[in-house]
This record gives sequence, C-alpha cells and structure tokens, in this order.
Amino acid sequence: MSASVTVAELAAFLESVAPLDLQESYDNAGLLTGDPDMGVTGVLTALDMLEPVVDEAIARGCNVVVAHHPIIFKGLKRLTGAHYVERVVIKAIRAGIALYAIHTNLDSVLDKGVNERIAQRLDLKDLHVLTDKPAGEFAGQAGMGVIGTLPAPMHLDVFLAHLKERMHAQVVRHTQWGNRAIHKVAVCGGSGSFLLEDAIRAGADAFVTADYKYHEFFEADGRILIADIGHYESEQFTIKLLEEIIRNKFPNFASHSTTVITNPVKYF
Ligand SMILES: [Zn+2]
Repeated sequence: MSASVTVAELAAFLESVAPLDLQESYDNAGLLTGDPDMGVTGVLTALDMLEPVVDEAIARGCNVVVAHHPIIFKGLKRLTGAHYVERVVIKAIRAGIALYAIHTNLDSVLDKGVNERIAQRLDLKDLHVLTDKPAGEFAGQAGMGVIGTLPAPMHLDVFLAHLKERMHAQVVRHTQWGNRAIHKVAVCGGSGSFLLEDAIRAGADAFVTADYKYHEFFEADGRILIADIGHYESEQFTIKLLEEIIRNKFPNFASHSTTVITNPVKYF
C-alpha cells in the first residue's frame, strides 16, 4: 500500500471536516501521539482509544487510530504504566501508532457530524443544529445537538421500540410522556443534558441523549420526553462514519472500523 499520505495530511483533511476551533474548551481533540510526517499505512477508527484497539491497529498494519474520544484529557504527569491511560499512550508510542481524536469538533458540525448520523439512523428529516456556534470560515452549520422531524408522528411505545432497534440500545431510560404523539426529535450523542432547554425551545417532543442523572430527569417536567439510550449506544455509529469519511477521501490506504466493543458498561 502507498504511504504517500502523511499523518499531517490526514489530520488536515479531518480538520476540514471538523475544525479544531469548534471543540469545547475542556476538550483535547487533534493529534495526541505520532509523527506528523509519517506515512499512513492504514487507519483504524474507534470510539475509544483503548489498549485492545491499539493492538488491533498493530495486527491490521494500521499506524493511525482515529477515535472520537481523546485518551488524554487533562495532561499526563508520568508515564509508568500504572494507569490505563498511560498504558495506551506507552503502547502507541512504542509501536509507532499515531492517535488522533475528533471529538466535540465532530459533535459540532451538522454535515458528517456525530448527530447527523444519529438523526439519519432515526429517519429524521429537515435537520438543524440546536445551538449555533460561530463557524468562522467554515461553511456548514455548526453547533451542539441536532433537531429533526420523524416521517410521521409516533406514540411513545412505537418511538421507544424504534429507538432501541435503530440505535442498537438494550435499554432506554426515559421520562413520562403519556399519549401525546412524538414528531420533532432532538438528539445529542454522549452527555447531552446541558442541551435540554435548547431542545425544548426548539420545539422538540423528545430528546435522545445519554448520561442522564436521576435529578436531571425531573427537569423534563412534562415538557419533553427525555430518552437516555447510553453513551456508547448513542455514539457507536460514529465509528463507521469516520471510516467512511476517511475511505472516501483516501482510497490509497485501508480504513477499518474497530471490531473491539469499547463500551465499559454492561447490562444484566
Ligand atoms: Zn462521547
């Protein structure tokens, strides 16, 4: 396979899809390990940069892992291997694997973003972002969360079954809704509770997201259906999205989705 595309060129392309300027202040998206001048032999896409994912990249001959969640968030003070984050970084550097994170910047773009993919899974049409972000030179709509409309209104039980089936969710934790129909749906992959009022203001009947806490569910207050489908479940289709984005641009090296299920949460 050709190694004519460099890590820097791959990063520049990913940043044309989801500019780093659009990431949240707490985030750490971008190139985390690896030589920008290195030729790309293959890319493995994932939600989480964990050791088994790096092992899979090595086994498949991929020297780049592109994942949604950055493994390094707050900075590392030592690299002894005592903590799982340190072990991932050590393994990647030893094996010459570049780790690249495309996180809240990918949450913030409508076109080819995390939430557009969720909306597509749910058959939502007429998509808009929930909160506008200054996009600068960037042409697309940008902002956190997406709202769209179902092809036809659904009753609660039908909607919840639709959610489970399309999002491959084992469990949906949700608030009361009664007999009213659900037509407009807001979505936010991952921890989206901060967008509840924006979803209500935009006229959403339902808000599909994850990481809701007990007291936060009360905030629905009969105004909206909160449906928590799980963090991994809400974002798992991002893995394939990233593979498609990279493969369409760079057919000269192999792009794969990880086969490792990185969800740390199990259901019984
Ligand atoms: Zn996430």
